[in-house]
Amino acid sequence: MSLNLPASPDPQLPTQWCIFDGNGLYLLAEALPAQAPALHTAVRYIGHNAAANLFATELVGEPPADWQKVGLRQALLTLSADYTPLLARAAQLRRFDQTHRYCGACAAPLLANAHDHGKHCPSCGELYYPRLSPAMMVLIHRGNELLLARSPQFAPGMYSALAGFVEAGESVEECVHREAFEEVGVRVRSLRYMRSQSWPFPHSLMLAFTAEYESGDITPQPGEIEDAAWFHIDSLPLTPPPRSIAHFLLQDFLAGR
Ligand SMILES: [Zn+2]
Repeated sequence: MSLNLPASPDPQLPTQWCIFDGNGLYLLAEALPAQAPALHTAVRYIGHNAAANLFATELVGEPPADWQKVGLRQALLTLSADYTPLLARAAQLRRFDQTHRYCGACAAPLLANAHDHGKHCPSCGELYYPRLSPAMMVLIHRGNELLLARSPQFAPGMYSALAGFVEAGESVEECVHREAFEEVGVRVRSLRYMRSQSWPFPHSLMLAFTAEYESGDITPQPGEIEDAAWFHIDSLPLTPPPRSIAHFLLQDFLAGR
């Protein structure tokens, strides 16, 4: 996966469009459309991957008949992994625009910065940038077993590594230890950072670790964890789909053994 964020498009690459509409965006034959609709709002350049320059806008009026509207999550799972960072960026810049129209300190209308994607308040000078929420994911292992859990919102039968948002004042490592104990009642050691991923639900920056089990019996946190268990690596349950960091974390761990 690579994300290029130059100020202007690469003239050698074709254009593709991330065309938002309400709670979704449009695909044409399981790809982002190569042309914008006749009527749309202001255009934002997002960046490019190896295949295309990506621009984002909002549809005005009716979509072409052959466009298919999908949710952001489905779009991420449909397109190749090269599009994950671009779509994440487009969705988060869009959300920033929608939720940062006025200054939180003095309520004056915000103005866009000239040279980056931030905004500033012309009245009191407060600066605003798209919000990023660091979150950790940890795959806990014990010999040939992995500790996987499911939250009540998961698809039926699906289990994943533990995850949780970093609290103010906390390091990511401290968050791993805290969440492992809060969510399933176990202590871990030998943390190993594996990779990170921008995940726009709504503005997570996921930092993925593996950790060795140290002590404790699995005790699911009421309301957060519906079930948690040790699974042998040769008989894993349904796990999150490709493109998600949980999938990459599991693949990385299994490949490294
Ligand atoms: Zn202000």
